[in-house]
Amino acid sequence: MHGSQFQGRLFGPGLPGAGIAASGQWDALGRLRVTPHESGQAERCADRPEIAAAGFNNASLRLSWQQPEGAYALVVDGVDDRSRCAATAPEHCNRQLAAAVRQPDTLERRFRLGWGLLALVLLMPLLGLVLFLLNADRVADWVVDKIPVAQEARLGELVLAQTRLQMKLIDRGPAVEALAVIGGRLTEGSVHRYRWFVAERPEVNAFAAPGGVVVVFSGLLTSAATAEELAGVLAHEVAHAELRHSLRGMVKGLGLRALVALLAGDISDNVLTGAATRLTELRFSRDAEREADANGLQRLVTAHISPHGMVRFYERLATEQRPTPPALLSTHPASGERLDWLRREVAALKGPWQPLPVNLQRATASLR
Ligand SMILES: [Zn+2]
Repeated sequence: MHGSQFQGRLFGPGLPGAGIAASGQWDALGRLRVTPHESGQAERCADRPEIAAAGFNNASLRLSWQQPEGAYALVVDGVDDRSRCAATAPEHCNRQLAAAVRQPDTLERRFRLGWGLLALVLLMPLLGLVLFLLNADRVADWVVDKIPVAQEARLGELVLAQTRLQMKLIDRGPAVEALAVIGGRLTEGSVHRYRWFVAERPEVNAFAAPGGVVVVFSGLLTSAATAEELAGVLAHEVAHAELRHSLRGMVKGLGLRALVALLAGDISDNVLTGAATRLTELRFSRDAEREADANGLQRLVTAHISPHGMVRFYERLATEQRPTPPALLSTHPASGERLDWLRREVAALKGPWQPLPVNLQRATASLR
């Protein structure tokens, strides 16, 4: 009869909370006989124990019965023990056994579904982040398309405020007037209200923030030999702003939270301020540079400004002996191929060009 024994834990009055190890066995009369393994514990006998599923995930069998001193239960856990218990059980137990064995299945499935959902919920942000990184370019494009012009102008204000903290900006005087005259012709018909600033900095650099804020470093102004050379750089910078390259660069540098803030119209968020701060170091892709060259050149032609100045200025920057390369060349990746393209395009253009009504030397004398 030993082979038909099944192991479990016995619970009942006077026994430890965790129960005690015990063997169960159905006798010839169909009664459950439970023999505790501990010596000194009497055998228990139950005529018709209740059988139900129990334990975590309902994977255990619980055989319970009443004795004068209270309720007892034998809990059978192991797979082999459970099947031995079921196989040797008397007929009157069959229905209860069948119900107790079927139950774990449905519960387990519900449980698995629960874990699946939980895993999904936990992984969603991660999944979103991965998708965002994989599609950062496309997401940035999509967002940039959705940003209204008014919002772009407010972003420009933010950049301006940040730039004022970093460098001294001049917003009036002959140099600024010269920029406004040349720039005005390059930005005719733009949806933005352009504003021109000179930064008191020795580097040969310039940048256009979203929304029509253009900052030219005094180092660039004093490096330009003619108003047409200056116009060439301005045309290129204006093109970056008009093509929303600067905006796109800022958007790409932002986190999702800031993007939501930007789309929702809340640009006071200090996350955006961080992006604005980095605008001066923003580097554009080669494609963006080519696009800005082409668009800038078109602006010069439309304004009847000689495009030879643009070529000359880039040539001079590339060949001039300097201890460090001009900042303009490091933030606007130049290549020989780009300059070759520009030379070919400009050579094919026939004027006539109108001279710019600006005396650059006199306008920038105060900056030297
Ligand atoms: Zn550029």
